[in-house]
Amino acid sequence: MNLELSLEKKFPAFQFKADVSAKGKRLGVFGPSGSGKSTLMNLLAGLITPDRGFIRLDGHTLFDSEKRILVSPKNRRIGVVFQHAHLFPHMNVQRNLMYGFKRTPEKERKISPGALIDVLALGHLLDRSVHRLSGGERQRVALGRTLLASPRLILMDEPLTGLDQHLKYQIIPYLKRVFQEFDIPLIFISHSLREMRLLTDDVLVFDKGFLSHCLSSEDLARHNLVSGDRAYANLITLKNPLPHKDLWRYTWGNTDLILTEPGKEGENIFELPSKDITLFKRHPEASSARNLLHGIVTDFFNVGNRVGVELSCSGEKLICQIVPESVEELDIRKGEALVAAIKASAFRKLF
Ligand code: ADP
Ligand code: MG
Repeated sequence: MNLELSLEKKFPAFQFKADVSAKGKRLGVFGPSGSGKSTLMNLLAGLITPDRGFIRLDGHTLFDSEKRILVSPKNRRIGVVFQHAHLFPHMNVQRNLMYGFKRTPEKERKISPGALIDVLALGHLLDRSVHRLSGGERQRVALGRTLLASPRLILMDEPLTGLDQHLKYQIIPYLKRVFQEFDIPLIFISHSLREMRLLTDDVLVFDKGFLSHCLSSEDLARHNLVSGDRAYANLITLKNPLPHKDLWRYTWGNTDLILTEPGKEGENIFELPSKDITLFKRHPEASSARNLLHGIVTDFFNVGNRVGVELSCSGEKLICQIVPESVEELDIRKGEALVAAIKASAFRKLF
């Protein structure tokens, strides 16, 4: 996707203004409640009309106040998935899914229903009434229906916000897979840093109606090294758990990690809080931590009254959080060797 826009919109009690030029497959829109995220989505989808400016998507002008161009929502071919899945109540899952597909001219169809039903694992639900779906299933059907219309772009406005944690982590792998598999760009709106990191590469950050930053989702998370429930956690992909005494041994990069939590065959995604990693200058002789990893400092950065230290360990990256006092004691410099100690219980399984 190549999105260029310059937009202004005034409401009686709110002003929206953004100048953006963004490229990439998975773009995030992040900001607190009331910062203008949904306004941006409505402007892009054509559900509200800007006061002035332009929107260009992959070279197509969707709006231009000077040239007096205003493409209708239908002709923009932008698919929208809202927080609460709007499914047709009188149709079963299959008919909901096929609704947009049937209305899309054959030459514009990019996704086959069979392939999509497989990737979203909806096969066993096709005959079901939409009243008998869980929240996560509803979102999968809503996304499937939108995708089958082969849009140029999908906008998802906080699609996971209403789901409980458990359902959220069930649906995220499907979302990741679907956007990997079918070549449709995504703009994903959320106020969750974790969702941003799992589903987007670059993020537009909004604050009080204004675009304040554009940065990678990983950098956005690092800026929030210490702030409460947003505090930085490493996202760790661990493979192939094997029993190890009372614990579990997983493959991580070219080493092993010991965890208390069991996982499934193949890939498992865990969170490891940056504050739960202890750094040593030399290898401690004995430690209760089950994981002692040799690493090289590749970067370090200040956030508030903490320092983030980026280590390269076994071909993987790890962010550790320390206090400024420790920077001197550990002699933190780029290229310096350190040992990271991690307890087996410090990891939290996401999916
Ligand atoms: P977010 O999605 O980031 O929570 P919104 O874009 O929904 O924020 O809303 C930003 C502000 O714009 C809010 O203060 C809201 O009241 C206002 N707003 C949004 N749409 C309209 C509208 N159609 N008319 C008047 N005010 C609106
Ligand atoms: Mg919103």
